[in-house]
Amino acid sequence: MALTLEDLTFDNRFTEDLPGDPMDLNRPRQVHHAAYSRVAPTPTSSPRLLAHSAEVLADLGLSPKVFETDEFLRVFSGNATIDAMEPYAACYGGHQFGNWAGQLGDGRAIALGEIVTDADVRHTLQLKGAGPTPYSRTADGLAVLRSSAREFLCSEAMFHLGVPTTRALSLATTGDHVMRDMFYDGNPEREQGAVVCRVAPSFIRFGNFELPMSRDDGDLLRALADHTISLHFPNIADGRTTGFTADDYVTWFAEVARRTADMIVHWQRVGFVHGVMNTDNMSIHGLTIDYGPYGWLEDYDPGWTPNTTDRQFKRYRFGAQPHIGQWNITQLANAIYPLVGDIEPLQEALTAYVDVFNHDWPRMMAAKLGIAEFDEARDPDLIHDLLEHLPTIETDMTVFFRCLADVSTSTDASDDERLAALADADYDPGQRTGDARELLAAWLRDWASRVGEAGRSDVDRAAAMNAVNPKFVLRNYLAQLAIDEADKGDPALIGELLDVLRRPYDEQPDKERFAEKRPEWARVRPGCSMLSCSS
Ligand code: AMP
Ligand code: MG
Repeated sequence: MALTLEDLTFDNRFTEDLPGDPMDLNRPRQVHHAAYSRVAPTPTSSPRLLAHSAEVLADLGLSPKVFETDEFLRVFSGNATIDAMEPYAACYGGHQFGNWAGQLGDGRAIALGEIVTDADVRHTLQLKGAGPTPYSRTADGLAVLRSSAREFLCSEAMFHLGVPTTRALSLATTGDHVMRDMFYDGNPEREQGAVVCRVAPSFIRFGNFELPMSRDDGDLLRALADHTISLHFPNIADGRTTGFTADDYVTWFAEVARRTADMIVHWQRVGFVHGVMNTDNMSIHGLTIDYGPYGWLEDYDPGWTPNTTDRQFKRYRFGAQPHIGQWNITQLANAIYPLVGDIEPLQEALTAYVDVFNHDWPRMMAAKLGIAEFDEARDPDLIHDLLEHLPTIETDMTVFFRCLADVSTSTDASDDERLAALADADYDPGQRTGDARELLAAWLRDWASRVGEAGRSDVDRAAAMNAVNPKFVLRNYLAQLAIDEADKGDPALIGELLDVLRRPYDEQPDKERFAEKRPEWARVRPGCSMLSCSS
């Protein structure tokens, strides 16, 4: 276990393998023929560490004591770098809300470098909110406490839920104020600045490949792809660092497509809505990345998005995520086309996304329902019918699936008995009458007979369901409560939430209040149900 950051083994391959920006000028500008610009974090006035993830610290090979050191605070608040670090901001582009946006880049993220652990695992450390870079465009390069706390908590919550994600090592406030017009209504307010240290194998996005393709820069495109494959897809690289064939690029692409589909199946399982699935926010590793105006489904509503910037068309609503994933992966296919030179194998590989999704999604849903073995002939209807009924009256998704585990499948059980076991999921129990009641009761009868067939005991079935249906998710209002307290200087609730979300599938009797459905006051409160990109 390393006792200081100096004891870590750095191996900064991104900056070593790829061409950097020859210009040393930290001003917004277009950067050509380069994968990154060297830039140092901006020092902050009075940093304070609010939270850290003990698991990430351990993954990095750092002793638990390290986070108490002054060095840790200084480095992860942007006030110092150690010699082995080579801070940079990456250059990438992207499609935003379906439109090509040109160069975007790390406007407020600065990577510190890559470490390789004793177990030979590679991690890139990246500060978010550590000051301007050549990619900051008209913005300030900073982040506010509310968005940083949300990113910190959600990264770790997703990890513990078993969803592929970037991680978060630390959350610090900077002591500096940041102006934000939270509602874009001409009323900017001073908010506390904050920095999160994110951790992932790399922060390479689809957009890293789209930008050189759009600029007809085949050399940079190839260098990026070769770097990515040789370092991060060793099975495909097979020891090579260059000289990949068209087939290799297609094999790699199909793997990215599969991982992306797998990630989105997980999102649909836990009720996560990313909110800004632009191609610059799609990780080449198939990890959930860039936690901005994301949200968790409360009442099951496939048409919901938390992102007020997307209010009109709801492009990134819950129910559209699978399709948007496919749209995004198609953009990656376009971006790497020059490396393949033939459209057909890429089109063929694109079906990997659809195949994985079509195979895994119904099986994931069946597992949520407690079906031990998915039956292609019958179960799609059962799943479909439930998803039709759920939105008819406000039904909390998380509570519903959790309670379903406790519904009796015995042929003796009455409709009333079964419905009563699910009552907690209803936002307004008075609405569960007429069709809303009859249809659910009928569905529960079908479900009970289907699930009962397996001959599994209700106890065993419940245990299997509770392993895929979380009890604790980062409900939007819970994150907001933690932010409110942290804003006043008390990060205790952030720590408590982090702790509860470590074991999202376990019963935690003394933490029941964190499993409750959204209280009425939170329905319209900003931050609890609606978020903007102004973070
Ligand atoms: P996002 O929607 O957060 O993924 O950001 C889209 C683009 O805007 C990326 O290039 C970000 O780096 C950039 N960006 C977002 N917020 C800021 C900020 N406060 N300062 C500078 N750049 C930003
Ligand atoms: Mg982004």
